[in-house]
Amino acid sequence: MTTLVASDLDRTLIYSAAALGLTVPDAEAPRLLCVEVYESRPLSYLTETAAGLLGTLARETLFVPTTTRTREQYRRIRLPVPTPGYAICANGGHLLVDGVADEDWNRSVRSRLDAECAPLAEVSAHLRATADPAWLLKERVAEDLFAYLVVDRAELPASWLRSTAAWAGERGWTVSLQGRKVYAVPRPLTKSAAMREVARRAGADTTLAAGDSLLDADLLLAADRARGWSEETELVSEGLRSLGTAVFDHHGHPVAALSTTWRRHYAPHDPERVREELGRAAARLTSAVSGRAPGAG
Ligand SMILES: [Mg+2]
Repeated sequence: MTTLVASDLDRTLIYSAAALGLTVPDAEAPRLLCVEVYESRPLSYLTETAAGLLGTLARETLFVPTTTRTREQYRRIRLPVPTPGYAICANGGHLLVDGVADEDWNRSVRSRLDAECAPLAEVSAHLRATADPAWLLKERVAEDLFAYLVVDRAELPASWLRSTAAWAGERGWTVSLQGRKVYAVPRPLTKSAAMREVARRAGADTTLAAGDSLLDADLLLAADRARGWSEETELVSEGLRSLGTAVFDHHGHPVAALSTTWRRHYAPHDPERVREELGRAAARLTSAVSGRAPGAG
């Protein structure tokens, strides 16, 4: 049995000093391990607790760092675990196998982008032509695959973001704002596609994922879809925890969802039991509408 754990890095596992957002008194701050140095300065950190847990995770599962960072930016990070067998960089554009880029994977991604999306040069030229120096701080192309702008977020007009997203959407690209960066990414360039490839190669039977941003949404959804249920703990409301599962039609498409939410401190249900109950109810409903779960034949 192989469990694949695909984890985003920045703001999920590692944090810059600014991203840490420490609010506790200095003397109570967590001990930190510096895992990235950039231009001779410490840049990213892991808490000591996370470092210990990551060691266990990497021993017991197939831990796959999954990042939008370029290979060069990724290789600066020195996690306190042996070199992972697989790592996903450039939002899925590069797959590192034992630390070495798999050129076949990159070629297959590029041929899909060539077939389905406007070329990077056209999109980056449009960004350059329409961005206003009043809020544009930097403009970058990553791995010849996608582009991003570093912006002064307070000055960035929402109307520019809307019109640029619409323009890009017609050309097979997505535009999203995350922190101080505006990303323009070809729609098929996803972390989830690379994660599925790793799961296939490694014969993983369970896939888990962690992430914090819009570029992780497809990764989280793909992991939930593969295991057949989803959960959240205090992501929406403090003190509440939820589990959900889908009901399928005869094509194996979801047609309804069952979910339950409970107060995790006052009603400490065993989530494993809740999940079994929900799964049973969803299976009954699926069969009542003559449906079938995907992969159930
Ligand atoms: Mg992140």
